[in-house]
Amino acid sequence: MKHLLDTTDDELKQWLEERGLPKYRAAQIRRWAYTGRAGSFDDMTDLPRELREKLAAEFTLFTGKVVAHKQADDGTEKLLLEWPDAHRIECVLIREGKRRTICISTQVGCAMGCVFCASGLDGVARNLTTGEIVEQMLQLNRLQTAEERLSNVVVMGMGEPLANLDRLLPALDQATRPDGLGIGGRHVTISTVGLPPAMDRLTELHTNYHLAVSLHAPNDELRTEIVPVNKSITIQAVIDAADRFFADNGRRLTFEYVLLGELNDRPEHARELVAILRGRTALLNVIPYNPVAGLPYREPSHKAQERFLEILRDGGLNVQVRTRKGDQIDAACGQLRRSMPGEPQVVALAMPRG
Ligand code: SAH
Repeated sequence: MKHLLDTTDDELKQWLEERGLPKYRAAQIRRWAYTGRAGSFDDMTDLPRELREKLAAEFTLFTGKVVAHKQADDGTEKLLLEWPDAHRIECVLIREGKRRTICISTQVGCAMGCVFCASGLDGVARNLTTGEIVEQMLQLNRLQTAEERLSNVVVMGMGEPLANLDRLLPALDQATRPDGLGIGGRHVTISTVGLPPAMDRLTELHTNYHLAVSLHAPNDELRTEIVPVNKSITIQAVIDAADRFFADNGRRLTFEYVLLGELNDRPEHARELVAILRGRTALLNVIPYNPVAGLPYREPSHKAQERFLEILRDGGLNVQVRTRKGDQIDAACGQLRRSMPGEPQVVALAMPRG
């Protein structure tokens, strides 16, 4: 069976043609998937029954099985999807005022090894396909009422997006096409650990996507401890690549900084951060750590966090504290996957518990 969402428009048209069917059906099928929010071919009620049957015999619309669907009081909903190979990923719908933001995954697991993050504890199993990335968007799209429309995409789920750019970019095309989800490119944010060659590639594509770079430390020694891939990259190289992106794209850069209690939250860290980021059109997004079961990292104390923010603001940085959404449903980064029974990787968790 083929994943319909991994089939290009041209392939679908050819498939129709080979069966003596009109090519315009391709656009109709597409419309159902994206705006009609069909859950199966059977829902595509203005297609002839025979065509629906033919499609169902050869394609699957959604290959992911929803193994968990959680809803928080703040309107956040999270899906745990299981692919036919039993791998699982998470994706989230966040409601804030009129805004409807979806957070999507790009890989099963992650190879970057950030020590505090639940997604990469067991490394990466595989890249998601374009269809699997698109499917997350469509499954989340379907959770909305008829009045709601998706407005933003953040690629901040499981995985390192820039390590799977070849599959992510066509998926984002689908998100932004007027006959796709119609989300403005300016409302797409890609979050990266900071891989300079891939950042440069993105720069050269001249997209209007927004880039967020996960910094998490103000010097190489500490960053390499928290973000091990930094060892062969260095902060300077990441910031230089971010500057090149900004010079081309002009969108304000975002740097993300997960505040880990007593690890990267000291006043001297804040002062160093001011020194390395000063003078940029950049937003520093400070994210208080969301504790992960089994990991020894802590949330920052209220006092440490306030002091840290004060130094950043006094230093002239544009700072925002990211408020948490969907706490009660393990909405952060790979946590739901780990908390669900039937996740075989949990038993392999080698980190100390406590
Ligand atoms: N690989 C990409 C996307 C990761 S998720 C990247 O590194 O940017 C998006 C952000 O959430 C990253 O900044 C990541 O470091 C952060 N994050 C991961 N786990 C977290 C946790 N438990 N608490 C707070 N932030 C976390």
